[in-house]
Amino acid sequence: MGAVAAKQEQGSQKNVIISRNPATGAILGEVPEQSVDEVRAAVARARDAQRQWSALPVRERAHRIGALRDVIVRRADEICEAISREGGKTRGEALTMEVMLVADLATYFGKRAHKILAPEPIPLHLLKNRGSYLHFVPRGVVGIIAPWNFPFSIPMGEAVMALLAGNGVVVKPSEMTPLIARKAKELYDASGLPADLFQVVTGRGPTGAALIDAGIDYCIFTGSTATGKRVAAACGERLIPCTVELGGKAPAIVCADADLDRTARALAWGAFANSGQVCVSVERVYAHESVYEELTRKVVEATSRLRQGDPARGETDVGAMTWDRQMEIVEERVQQAVGAGAKVLTGGARLGGDGLFFAPTVLGDCRQDMDVMRKEIFGPVMPIMKVRDEEEAVRLANDSHLGLMAYVFTKDTQKGRRIAERIEAGSVMVNDCLLTYGAPETPWGGVKQSGLGRTHGPQGLRDLCEVRHVNYDRLALRRELWWYPYSDKLYGRMLKAIRWIFR
Ligand code: NDP
Repeated sequence: MGAVAAKQEQGSQKNVIISRNPATGAILGEVPEQSVDEVRAAVARARDAQRQWSALPVRERAHRIGALRDVIVRRADEICEAISREGGKTRGEALTMEVMLVADLATYFGKRAHKILAPEPIPLHLLKNRGSYLHFVPRGVVGIIAPWNFPFSIPMGEAVMALLAGNGVVVKPSEMTPLIARKAKELYDASGLPADLFQVVTGRGPTGAALIDAGIDYCIFTGSTATGKRVAAACGERLIPCTVELGGKAPAIVCADADLDRTARALAWGAFANSGQVCVSVERVYAHESVYEELTRKVVEATSRLRQGDPARGETDVGAMTWDRQMEIVEERVQQAVGAGAKVLTGGARLGGDGLFFAPTVLGDCRQDMDVMRKEIFGPVMPIMKVRDEEEAVRLANDSHLGLMAYVFTKDTQKGRRIAERIEAGSVMVNDCLLTYGAPETPWGGVKQSGLGRTHGPQGLRDLCEVRHVNYDRLALRRELWWYPYSDKLYGRMLKAIRWIFR
């Protein structure tokens, strides 16, 4: 439980959300569950501030967002502590997967946004007397509904891009991690950017629903497929464009010629980083039968070396899970798999004590029909299945309703790329895991039920703008050939012209 329990605030009608440290169960603080009116007011304030902000040249916006980046870098240690305390993530992961990611995104797009958002000419192939171009107009206020697994980098990364594109931002963090969002607002305010331009509204699901209904112009949602569908439907009802980044069930294909030492280490990191609570965690491994035994042994060795415990300690590899309900889901998945014949090769159960610790778990002898191979686990569990050959691995990798990310391990990079191109996923990495969310140049998003739209990459920045088209005359003629009055003569001339053009 990164948070949660509602209680009535004494002497008021307001519910509050109590935040807890998932590693100890200790209460960290509380935030109000904000009302529909408060959410509407936040959007209205962001809209007012956005009018002036959008009038600034992109370079000026980038310069000012550089100040936010500087505050984030200067106060990195404090942010990592907040993430570790409320989210259960290790300090090292908080630094590399959250703080660094936002700092890099702000720097990368800060340098390039003016080029990416510069008007783009469209050469017209037929209408040579006219010119066309696209220009990119900020959408207005972007609502960001964020999950608990990356409570800083997801909302702040999206916010940095939305602000660069000239928008105002209102973030609704997960009820599990509201204090981190508050910390983000504190950092933002310390950067000297206009206070109302970036707002945080705290609450549960209904607060997220209220944000969609509060007059926002674009919505970025990250979370479960079930809630994502509700969000997309609510946006559709209001004709608000949205990006929904949903669940994953990332397969890892281990070919017969893989470097097994590197693969085992990569898989352990890919499955257990952030206690497996990553939408692109390694969630199922398909190992070629010729290497299955050796790979499994090496993965178990690598897993057994991991140090689990207090996320705030520098030497901890695996921290706590964020949410008690999520840990129950992980237990259910493991129990179902074991009941169906999977073998626990290491781990397999929660640790004792008050903290939400689930031992990094490797399951052998898994089959495709087990829940652990089909449904999202979102916890530190790596199920491994033996496959006859790479063809079977590709078929099984694609046998899923989700398609966010996939991994291929082979010493032959060309072969890895050929296999990667056949996998139904938004991104595929050869011989590595997780990393590309941290590569701002590359698009992020899934196919199938893993979501709609892409964040990051030049397209991700442009999507935060309305793409508008202007068409103008380069050569002013007295009249155009196809204007009134129509006549047989005009018809004849047009017919000749068409026959000549399409000859
Ligand atoms: P949800 O998808 O339910 O929540 C994500 C965000 O949406 C939270 O801020 C949540 O608020 C908010 N929300 C909930 N209901 C609505 C609604 N009707 N309208 C608008 N916003 C809403 O995820 P959970 O936190 O409940 O996690 C459930 C599962 O989702 C996990 O078991 C995991 O499998 C998956 N997940 C996937 C993530 C990813 O990165 N793709 C991230 C997190 C979870 P609140 O939290 O306050 O309810």
